Amino acid sequence: MKLRDVAIGANASIYYKLDFKRIKGVFYPRTTGELSQVIKMASEKGLDITMKGGGSGLSGACTGGDSERVMVSTLQMNDIISVNLKGGYADVETGVTPDELNARIGVDGYKFWVAPSSRDIATVGGLISTDGGGNDAWVNGTMRDNTIWVKMLLSTGDEITVSHEGVRADDSELEARLNEIGMNLGDVASAHGTLGAITKMRLKIKPIDGQRLRGGIAEFEDANALGNALAKMIDKQIPIAYGESIVYAHPHIKSILNPPLLILEYPEASHDVLSDITNMRQLSRNETDAMKAIRLQLPKRNPNEGVQIALFEGYGFHDQSLARLQEAVDRIHALLMENEFVPFAQYGHAPSKWYLGDNTPAYGIIMHSREIQPADKSGIEKFKVVKQIVNLCKELDITPKPEHKWIFSDKTKLDRLRELRSVVGTRFNSFVLDPNCDRILEAMA
Ligand SMILES: Cc1cc2nc3c(=O)[nH]c(=O)nc-3n(C[C@H](O)[C@H](O)[C@H](O)COP(=O)(O)OP(=O)(O)OC[C@H]3O[C@@H](n4cnc5c(N)ncnc54)[C@H](O)[C@@H]3O)c2cc1C
Repeated sequence: MKLRDVAIGANASIYYKLDFKRIKGVFYPRTTGELSQVIKMASEKGLDITMKGGGSGLSGACTGGDSERVMVSTLQMNDIISVNLKGGYADVETGVTPDELNARIGVDGYKFWVAPSSRDIATVGGLISTDGGGNDAWVNGTMRDNTIWVKMLLSTGDEITVSHEGVRADDSELEARLNEIGMNLGDVASAHGTLGAITKMRLKIKPIDGQRLRGGIAEFEDANALGNALAKMIDKQIPIAYGESIVYAHPHIKSILNPPLLILEYPEASHDVLSDITNMRQLSRNETDAMKAIRLQLPKRNPNEGVQIALFEGYGFHDQSLARLQEAVDRIHALLMENEFVPFAQYGHAPSKWYLGDNTPAYGIIMHSREIQPADKSGIEKFKVVKQIVNLCKELDITPKPEHKWIFSDKTKLDRLRELRSVVGTRFNSFVLDPNCDRILEAMA
């Protein structure tokens, strides 16, 4: 195995121009004991530590930026330690993927219900660090909702256990200080590896339910009408099992679709309340599967000329931004066109759930976008457009990249991480908190 394979090989983000001279070691620990030695060595040498799971995170956090650092892969810490079906939980090491866990518990009719599209490669340690979720986050929640506790090694050498209730540690003084400032699992969720090394986790598992679902499709006059219908579904807490919105499709692919539209799967008992909200055309099983397949094909299709890219990838529309969805889509389109990117497809999980930087849950659409790539744009030029989109999101009250979080713009989260690091130590993934984080990323784009 080569350094490049670990440091850059699995890095799904657009930030891959790494300065290898600043990476002072690459480690693949198999046990907490080995990991503990790496942390001790790095701390003694004054080096930063970047934890890395599957490398599927899109924020660039798993690269470690430009810090003088050691890289630690968790891919060998992938044991399913024990499963307690009756208790509804499984204890696992950080490097396990949702697919691996489900392969083990599926035979007993149980499931771990966090299902991102990357569930075959993303590790549970990476998923809690980005608070990932799947298409069904509306009913099953995000990673934090499905985690009972995490064990974490700090740069001080201490081990802490963090749950929704607070922190436990052998060092009673440390435990008291962290509980005084209210540290809990919400802080670890989406911390992007800045607090410590997660080693083990207790995850919730539930039986696979056999409820009968209906499929349906609703088409809307404009995006505002779609946003309003979603707001009502959220208000009535309809347990929609699969919800996908297609907000926009380029003329090259529009012939097969008539967006804005919603494809839904929902329990039969919800049919009447859903019909009151929107004009739902019922779909047969085959038709539902065909619509889901079209949605899956959108990111795989190319325009007749050129190629599509995911310049920005994700937006979270919630509260009032749902009612003004059309304006937001138009403004984003205008910004893209000004910069010669042509919108290609916009679609997303809806209704969905994610958390804002202050840990309040948000409900709405997590929309993905694809654009047609201009032939001659450099990485830096693309990054500059991305930054403009982040600013536009703020203006429109949209969460930029809700699934993987846009690191440098979430001031509330960053301030909270700084507060926590004043107690747990500052050795882990420091570039995320650097005031110049955006410039560091830009140089790597
Ligand atoms: C094709 C594709 C589809 C995707 N679909 C989805 C989706 O549907 N939903 C979704 O939410 N995300 C999705 N993602 C994003 C990605 O899968 C998630 O961000 C995931 O959580 C990253 O997990 P990972 O193990 O790859 O972590 P990495 O990318 O390796 O790391 C992510 C962060 O976690 C930190 N970290 C990793 N392990 C530890 C540890 N043990 N201790 C402390 N910090 C740690 C890293 O430092 C980094 O900050 C997708 C990505 C791709 C490429």
